[in-house]
Amino acid sequence: TTQTTQSAIAAAEAHSAHNYHPLPVVVATADGAWMTDVEGRRYLDMLAGYSALNFGHGNRRLIDAAKAQLERVTLTSRAFHHDRFGEFCARLAELCGMEMVLPMNTGAEAVETAVKTARKWGYRVKGVPDNMAKIVVAADNFHGRTTTIISFSTDPEARADYGPYTPGFEIVPYGDAAAMEAALTDNTVAVLLEPIQGEAGVLVPPPGYLQRVRELTRERDVLFIADEIQSGLGRTGRTFACEHEGVVPDVYLLGKALGGGVVPVSAVVSSAALLGVHRPGEHGSTFGGNPLACAVALEVIAMLRTGEYQQRAAELGEHLHHELGLLTGGGAVEAVRGRGLWAGVDISPSHGTGREISEKLLDRGVLVKDTHGSTIRIAPPLVISKEDLDWGLDQLRAVLAGG
Ligand code: PLP
Repeated sequence: TTQTTQSAIAAAEAHSAHNYHPLPVVVATADGAWMTDVEGRRYLDMLAGYSALNFGHGNRRLIDAAKAQLERVTLTSRAFHHDRFGEFCARLAELCGMEMVLPMNTGAEAVETAVKTARKWGYRVKGVPDNMAKIVVAADNFHGRTTTIISFSTDPEARADYGPYTPGFEIVPYGDAAAMEAALTDNTVAVLLEPIQGEAGVLVPPPGYLQRVRELTRERDVLFIADEIQSGLGRTGRTFACEHEGVVPDVYLLGKALGGGVVPVSAVVSSAALLGVHRPGEHGSTFGGNPLACAVALEVIAMLRTGEYQQRAAELGEHLHHELGLLTGGGAVEAVRGRGLWAGVDISPSHGTGREISEKLLDRGVLVKDTHGSTIRIAPPLVISKEDLDWGLDQLRAVLAGG
């Protein structure tokens, strides 16, 4: 059946829950940093699936790895071993400089797993009294959509009418080390933070913040859990955003790009002592660590081991931030933040909402997505060419100039 943009959107509107407000484009195919819609129009992807597509659409190595694994075995469940599992865990632990991996599927599941791990560690190892464990999180966080995770969100849209909420979380302002210090008690088992807050608008904490959090958590026997689901795996110009401050957390949470935009793969990566708190039957997932996921993620890990994607993100990121910096002060852009190939651009209200700017960019063949009303987020695949990036920036300049 031939679909038009209108017919495809009409079907989605009629039969899907309206928990998203997509831009009016219907993608049919994609390659590298480009997507093509059902009517043959081409668009430069400057969102990259919220950083799940760091290696681009249709990445040959990832597609080949997936195809080969599809022909072998796709799912065993964890009732049995399979021949990609041990290698995946070993390689991922090595990439992270850690010992052990607990694979899940979505980012939210990795966060949930970390919450459970920290609590159990608190009771079994730290000696926190039963049901008293506290986890300190930051205001404006985004860690996912489960009932427990939205319980410690500060975004009314994410929370309203989804209660009752899970207790056990303390919220402090992001970037405020003194507030963090004041919030830590003997019952605190973990601090859970995004090293750069993505959904909040690509907020980079003040210099020294992550280091101070690392010191405080070490002093107080508190786990430092870094949610690198969006910031990690090359996006910021390093494998992990924590590296920019020379900080090594106790736990990395990974997702999105770990599955290369092909399959959902997430993981909690940490020490043997910490992940060792889980015994058989206490936690799991039918699809967690499945053969297809492991095969694709192994290829992702191999690509990251060379450092070339990180370097590319660092170099192109420097260019991106230089160009965006020139836009501030011109009246249309109030602020630009970010690191590597990742930027939050605050649009001045006089020049339109983030949504309006995104729609105008769509008309010019560039795909971005607004967040929190006035911010647009730029996060192209790391494989984007400099020429394409410059072309995308030209379109942004034209839109901001009123074109
Ligand atoms: N953590 C962070 C930092 C994220 O940005 C996201 C998704 O945007 C998640 C967790 C949740 O991941 P998922 O949507 O795969 O559950």
